[in-house]
Amino acid sequence: MTLDGRPYPPVRFDLSKRLDIPRTQVEVAAVRRTVFNEDHEAFRETLRAFIEAEVVPVYDEWFAAGQAPREFYHQLAELGLFGINVPEEFGGAGLDTHKFEAVMYEETARAGVTFGGSNVHTLLGLPYIKLLATDEQKKRYLPKFVSGEEMWGIAMTEPGTGSDLAGMKTTAKLSEDGTHYVLNGAKTFITGGVHADRMIVCARTAAPTAEDRRHGISLFVVDTKAEGYSIGRKLDKLGLRVSDTAELAFVDVKVPVDDLLGEENKGFSYLGHNLASERWGIAFGAYAQAKAAVRFAKEYVQQRTVFGKPVASFQNTKFELAACQAEVDAAEAVVDRATEALDAGELTAAEAASAKLFCTEVAHRVIDRCLQLHGGYGFMNEYPIARLYADNRVNRIYGGTSEIMKSIIAKDMGL
Ligand SMILES: Cc1cc2nc3c(=O)[nH]c(=O)nc-3n(C[C@H](O)[C@H](O)[C@H](O)COP(=O)(O)OP(=O)(O)OC[C@H]3O[C@@H](n4cnc5c(N)ncnc54)[C@H](O)[C@@H]3O)c2cc1C
Repeated sequence: MTLDGRPYPPVRFDLSKRLDIPRTQVEVAAVRRTVFNEDHEAFRETLRAFIEAEVVPVYDEWFAAGQAPREFYHQLAELGLFGINVPEEFGGAGLDTHKFEAVMYEETARAGVTFGGSNVHTLLGLPYIKLLATDEQKKRYLPKFVSGEEMWGIAMTEPGTGSDLAGMKTTAKLSEDGTHYVLNGAKTFITGGVHADRMIVCARTAAPTAEDRRHGISLFVVDTKAEGYSIGRKLDKLGLRVSDTAELAFVDVKVPVDDLLGEENKGFSYLGHNLASERWGIAFGAYAQAKAAVRFAKEYVQQRTVFGKPVASFQNTKFELAACQAEVDAAEAVVDRATEALDAGELTAAEAASAKLFCTEVAHRVIDRCLQLHGGYGFMNEYPIARLYADNRVNRIYGGTSEIMKSIIAKDMGL
């Protein structure tokens, strides 16, 4: 029986019953945490109801199609999700906090779903606009950003270089009349690459110098409908199947000088600055997935009978889930601290790397152990634990691999 006396749902996972779980467990946990207030909890309730009504019933279709439909992003916009951190003068709520995003990570993971490629719109795109755009650019970009009319992504990675971003080969050359840049090159693994209307493209505007190989990279806001901009393959991925990840190619794409973001040649330092919030988001998402995995496994082992007993009755099951819970508790403390630091503008690159490394490695271990407790059913996509397992794998790779996180932390330690 659940905490409020209702029976558990049947063993076979049923999408329509996915959200039928004891709420008291969530609320008890929320009370002990100090990171969220009443506004966040009210938002959680709204989001939970929205996910239950609008996402869970169609999620299998999105999974089969390999992407969420573009119209869904308009629904997210209507819900107010894209405007939370946008100044009021541009149609947003005027807040400056990542806590609502944090709630979104928890609620999507809890329901065993994702919001497709839309995360990059707010998590990756918005910080660049807020940090670098001029007032004139903000006026042009932000209202459509908030309304979902224009979805954003960011293209750093190239087929030949991912971890070593200074090695990028895409170029942007200023035209002789000085009115536009001419963009040539290719990018890969770009989240939101199919649906995006505006892509922040990182390109070389100058050669690296002998002293600084990171010099010479600039950021451009590129209209994805521009001539010469093409979307290649939508990539077939192991996980995150409802997220549209694509290859991009640029052949003599004209980018007006008005769409240069920040100063020329300083792009690498901008990337370094904003990667901290991206890595926080990956850390938080991984923690939320690990927490959800423990809940899914706990429910499952209480229902599944083997050798005439519930799987939950074996000492191994209890020990496994207890160890997983302890890891999730530790990750929760890490992400909550990182969230407060990020909101205060104090999260350093090394701290963000540390949170990402720790939480993604915890999630990797926890989700694997929770899947094991499901036996063969854990390998079936109809069970959310299987999707979590596949979705989580990329957390140790994108936004910088675990090895790169270790390099950043070691450098910060003076090693
Ligand atoms: C699903 C998905 C979505 C993505 N979304 C985006 C996006 O929206 N925008 C974008 O720009 N990019 C995106 N990426 C790209 C992602 O950030 C890169 O894949 C990642 O940074 C790693 O680069 P790489 O794939 O080129 O691996 P490589 O750099 O080739 O690394 C290969 C291996 O070498 C290791 N390695 C590399 N350098 C070192 C070193 N110095 N020391 C020790 N080991 C090292 C790595 O850790 C890794 O194990 C996405 C990737 C995926 C899979």
